[in-house]
Amino acid sequence: MQIPGHIDPVTTGTVPLRGGNRVDLVGLTREGVRAALEEAGLDAKAAKLRAKQIWHWIYHRGVTDFDAMTDIAKAMRPWLTERFIVGRPTVREAQLSNDGTRKWLLAAADGQEYEMVFIPDADRGTLCVSSQVGCTLNCRFCHTGTMRLVRNLSAGEIVGQVLLARDALGEWPKGNMAGGDQDDDEAGHYTADGRMLTNIVMMGMGEPLYNFDEVKGALKIVMDGDGLALSKRRITLSTSGVVPMMARAGEEIGVNLAVSLHAVSKEIRDEIVPLNRKYGIEELLEACAAYPGANNARRITFEYVMLKDKNDSDADARELVRLIKQYRLPAKVNLIPFNPWPGAPYECSSPERVRAFSNLIFEAGISAPVRTPRGRDIMAACGQLKSAATRPSRAELDRIAAEKQAALG
Ligand code: SAH
Ligand code: SF4
Repeated sequence: MQIPGHIDPVTTGTVPLRGGNRVDLVGLTREGVRAALEEAGLDAKAAKLRAKQIWHWIYHRGVTDFDAMTDIAKAMRPWLTERFIVGRPTVREAQLSNDGTRKWLLAAADGQEYEMVFIPDADRGTLCVSSQVGCTLNCRFCHTGTMRLVRNLSAGEIVGQVLLARDALGEWPKGNMAGGDQDDDEAGHYTADGRMLTNIVMMGMGEPLYNFDEVKGALKIVMDGDGLALSKRRITLSTSGVVPMMARAGEEIGVNLAVSLHAVSKEIRDEIVPLNRKYGIEELLEACAAYPGANNARRITFEYVMLKDKNDSDADARELVRLIKQYRLPAKVNLIPFNPWPGAPYECSSPERVRAFSNLIFEAGISAPVRTPRGRDIMAACGQLKSAATRPSRAELDRIAAEKQAALG
């Protein structure tokens, strides 16, 4: 899509359909499934009924084979199989970290690769989902930002990650289960016993607000009460600060917001999050203050990567507190120890520095936990994702950064 005031730098291209001439139903809206069935020749009434049944099988039960859709007339199933598929991304590689984190390298139908990560905790299981192959932005501390090749993922490719994770975790419900209300935390009714994937974060590869329509389409499906039925309270979208899209994200998607702030002065943020040269800190914090749905019960998370001698002083912590108070933001801060990658130009702050920084913010009455790095041994931690694990030279990295900056205008 074209973003007002912004040159859309993403080439989307035409992605070949995974099923050859067959239409992949994953990623279509409910209405889209119905329309596809009607277009294939069903009358309006039949299309409506079959769409409802198929939706339930795809998103509530995880079924990919029309033959297994037992409430659909036997004679109709081959007809569906000839015309449609229920696709999944191809798994190129699956890795398991010694802390239980899992990372999958996935391939789209056109061979483009992207990654997703599952992070199990005692009380939750979080899937970190990618929104783009690579990223058009070039935050200096982020491995994904060094990828030259970028394309938006489709809604189907985004929701496909969630479906694949549930396949891999073996947690599609068995038996006859009812759907739930999308605003209800217990939606789906099969949440309680043994549901492993409980939360989704749009924090994988890419900037989700540069792929707004597809991300929105995918998250609507994920929240749909007759399918995956994940509550919007369990979904967080992280942006590096695409200010013009933030209000729409709140109004039209309504999930929790995380903002990659990472610095409190123009000079440093311009350097480490170059998008800041386009949308500065004041504009960004004003957009946060206006974010629909943010309140003391649903706070905005400010992500802050801890870079040694760059953004980690006591003065930085105090300024962060001052800004949060000045804009009266219902906020919490998430301190992320910098995760290294080959050729990265920064180092992580010392544990003592991180603790001191965190304490200063806590003392001002703002929660500032330190995010425990997960999956570092398999390069699955924040900012380590990159589909081709090559090590570009410093000059090559600078060239890529310059090209991306020029494209931003
Ligand atoms: N593009 C979005 C979402 C993906 S990144 C965004 O930037 O917000 C998820 C988080 O990890 C962001 O806060 C990002 O800035 C942070 N991150 C990137 N590289 C990192 C690194 N090497 N170490 C720690 N955190 C990093
Ligand atoms: Fe893109 Fe986010 Fe990485 Fe920045 S931190 S380069 S916006 S993925």
